Amino acid sequence: MVVNVERVLLAAPRGYCAGVDRAVETVERALQSFGAPIYVRKQIVHNLPVVRDLESKGAIFVEELGEVPSGATVILSAHGVAPEVYAQARARELRVVDATCPLVTKVHNEAKKFARDGYHIVLIGHEGHEEVVGTMGEAPASITLIIQGPPREDICYATQNRQTAVKVLAEKADVVLVIGSDNSSNSNRLAEVAAARGARSYLIDDETEIEDAWFEGARTVGITSGASAPEWLVDRVVGWFRARGVDDVEEVRVVEEDVHFALPKELEQA
Ligand code: SF4
Repeated sequence: MVVNVERVLLAAPRGYCAGVDRAVETVERALQSFGAPIYVRKQIVHNLPVVRDLESKGAIFVEELGEVPSGATVILSAHGVAPEVYAQARARELRVVDATCPLVTKVHNEAKKFARDGYHIVLIGHEGHEEVVGTMGEAPASITLIIQGPPREDICYATQNRQTAVKVLAEKADVVLVIGSDNSSNSNRLAEVAAARGARSYLIDDETEIEDAWFEGARTVGITSGASAPEWLVDRVVGWFRARGVDDVEEVRVVEEDVHFALPKELEQA
């Protein structure tokens, strides 16, 4: 089938949030400072191509700290962990570099504070997701998990801004491609938001998953990426369209963003 797309619109903001940017840079800097191998507990961010790229540079991803040799360096992912994970790391004499996003730490601190003050906490999230396991671990007896909440997600600026941008994009595009992995909550949500605004939307890891048939009758395609998807994947997807003769590529900026987090203190000390 011939693809007749004439225009590609790129949502802005899209892609890496400050927490993911910091987590990926943390692994790269740790590899430079301490040398390979560097162990990383869980996927550093919920994006498979990023994980594969870091593996090729010497990172070893593990599910639990029991898989890390005593005395080795381990990085904790952006999503945060329950207190028992720090205790395990101390018991195994691991050097810990904590890449937990500062905004996740803020939520953990709030959970601890409310539990201390005698409140019962209602946490909105997905059972078993790392972010939820970590937060519930702070005050297990004081938290009830539910999965349906008010429509507005306010865990952080990045989730909100990417959704605002994809809404505008979905109104201008026939098809919206969301670059992100299946296990990325915010990427799945972007695809849902685009679909709710009337665009045919697809979640893809990279350009190899694109199918020509998706663009039947489509003139304008919108592209965005979840908070854990790097810009080099966006470039590859745009390249897929350029290779099919689409030269009209334009960015649609909806919100300005300027958030950066300092690297973990363990790296600064190194
Ligand atoms: S989406 Fe928000 S909370 Fe999650 S890592 Fe990024 S900045 Fe932090």
